[in-house]
Amino acid sequence: MTQDCKRNRPNILVTGTPGTGKTTTSSALAESTQLRHVNIGELVREKNLHDGWDDELDCHVINEDLVCDELEDIMEQGGIIVDYHGCDFFPERWFDQVVVLQTDNSVLYDRLTKRGYTGSKLTNNIECEIFQVLLEEAKESYPEDIVVALKSDTIEDITRNVATLTEWVRNWQPRS
Ligand code: ADP
Ligand code: MN
Repeated sequence: MTQDCKRNRPNILVTGTPGTGKTTTSSALAESTQLRHVNIGELVREKNLHDGWDDELDCHVINEDLVCDELEDIMEQGGIIVDYHGCDFFPERWFDQVVVLQTDNSVLYDRLTKRGYTGSKLTNNIECEIFQVLLEEAKESYPEDIVVALKSDTIEDITRNVATLTEWVRNWQPRS
């Protein structure tokens, strides 16, 4: 329900396939809005909010309940930018805007290769982008009118996305 929404600054989820620019965009947005950027991957590592390492996927098995417990208080306060390549396990009521970053396949391929991704880790992420997995997940998990897909191919895209979102944050008003 919207009635229990007491925050006076909005919470934003920035999601998308790895490499689409979530962390770059979120940190620039945090700087221009004074919202607080929470990188879930870093939080999971720092606070051990995982159930070990997945050798096959080559990443931590994140413990979604521990992550949500850890964030509950600050999300209630508002003013948080959550940065994560998944979105279906956060409470729906946490977010006022859900941003799905999208990148052209060949551009993404180069970025992930530069990051050292190879083999199935590389192809899984490219397929994730081709099939718009995160956009579908976001649409299934949040009201359609708060989900927005933004192109993130170039530096100009980042600049424009940050400007658009900064304007949105400025105009955001708490629900009464
Ligand atoms: P994510 O957090 O989604 O995995 P990052 O923000 O870490 O992505 O970006 C991955 C790499 O791609 C970084 O080297 C970053 O500078 C670059 N990058 C991300 N988005 C863009 C963009 N829109 N234009 C150019 N380079 C980008
Ligand atoms: Mn990142």
